[in-house]
Amino acid sequence: MDDFETIREQFPILHQRIHGHPLVYLDSAATSQKPDAVIESERRFYETINAGVHRGAHELAARSTVAFEDARAKVARLVGADAEPDHEEIVVTSGATAALNLLATAFGNASQGRGGDAARRFALGPGDGIVVSEAEHHSVLLPFQELAARTGADLTWFGLHEDGRIRTEDADEVITPRTKVVAITHVSNVTGAITDIAPVVRRAHEVGALVVLDACQSVPHLPVDLHALGVDFAAWSAHKMYGPTGAGFLYGRRELLEALPPANFGGSMVELAWMDRPAQYMAPPARFEAGTQPVAQVIASGAAADWMRGIGMDRIARHERANAAVLLGLNDIDGVRVLGPTDTTDRIGTVSFDVDGVHPHDVGQFLDARGIAVRVGHHCAQPVHRHFGLFASNRASCGVYTTTDEARALLEAVAKVRDFFKA
Ligand code: PMP
Repeated sequence: MDDFETIREQFPILHQRIHGHPLVYLDSAATSQKPDAVIESERRFYETINAGVHRGAHELAARSTVAFEDARAKVARLVGADAEPDHEEIVVTSGATAALNLLATAFGNASQGRGGDAARRFALGPGDGIVVSEAEHHSVLLPFQELAARTGADLTWFGLHEDGRIRTEDADEVITPRTKVVAITHVSNVTGAITDIAPVVRRAHEVGALVVLDACQSVPHLPVDLHALGVDFAAWSAHKMYGPTGAGFLYGRRELLEALPPANFGGSMVELAWMDRPAQYMAPPARFEAGTQPVAQVIASGAAADWMRGIGMDRIARHERANAAVLLGLNDIDGVRVLGPTDTTDRIGTVSFDVDGVHPHDVGQFLDARGIAVRVGHHCAQPVHRHFGLFASNRASCGVYTTTDEARALLEAVAKVRDFFKA
């Protein structure tokens, strides 16, 4: 048994049959499955220390607070962020979408003068620029489109190469002295291509713009060091990195988080509140964490982060690249087209494809009947589908538990799709 078979054994959900066939789960880009370590962490929390954090004098509250902050530090270590008390750079949210909306709303608040002088660096107005790319997930595109509408700023974008890679080599033209924010994906959830963000970060910082990285599809699959990448903010979800649903993270460089005005308001984020005066908000990260937090989910995300580091992100990346190499064989099947780069350079094991003449939903059902789970639809990224002349596609995406036999099983099944529907 090689190491990755032992790792696979740790995922209880994978040991089942679907429609009489062994489950082949190739939908990890939508959500990953969870190892015993994560399931046990959440279970142990509810069995032993369940309590709200940062309030209450009782022992359970103290223990859950320690475990929650410990988990924040574990997540920070996974992505190379600061975890020291009073220097935390990780804000807990309910997911990547919530993190990106929090940020765009906070920028909008700063644009209306909230947060005072310190927050002026986040303010946008008519004539200022926001840059995204045509490969963005709607969770990036829409919050920043709304921010543009709210502030009068212009939204422009990086175009794509034929194979769907973002043309970041155009950074000097796309990012101008009027650009204030660049929000860009680290890895496309459709093509699986890793973005070369170095020219983006260099040019953005040259003109004083901030870089927001959508790290949803990189953190689970690659070694990610946010300090080394030099981005200003980043967002990702726990549920794609082997953690639970209902938790996500916003990274911000500490000095930026200190200057950023809040976006959500309520309990646990305020030092002082009065009836007749504005409230005095807490320091980050608490300032951005209004309300009761997803404590169990965050603690289990910490377990997931440690579990991944225990395996080694380099090893995970290598394992997934080997599966990507098999999946890319889809492109050699008659009538099948891979949407995205067709070689293993700078990509993860997420491969979207189109089967000529067969609707993605039919392909998905054909595969499901054989126990194979893939994603169908536009994967919340309509512009990149338009780039490929499509509205929807099929997407196979690997996790750490995916085997080459599973990738081959997909290829064998896809090879039969057209004949099946012709008949
Ligand atoms: N960005 C990318 C690239 C994604 O793949 C996803 C999830 N499909 C998101 C953002 C949004 O994540 P969530 O739905 O977990 O908030």
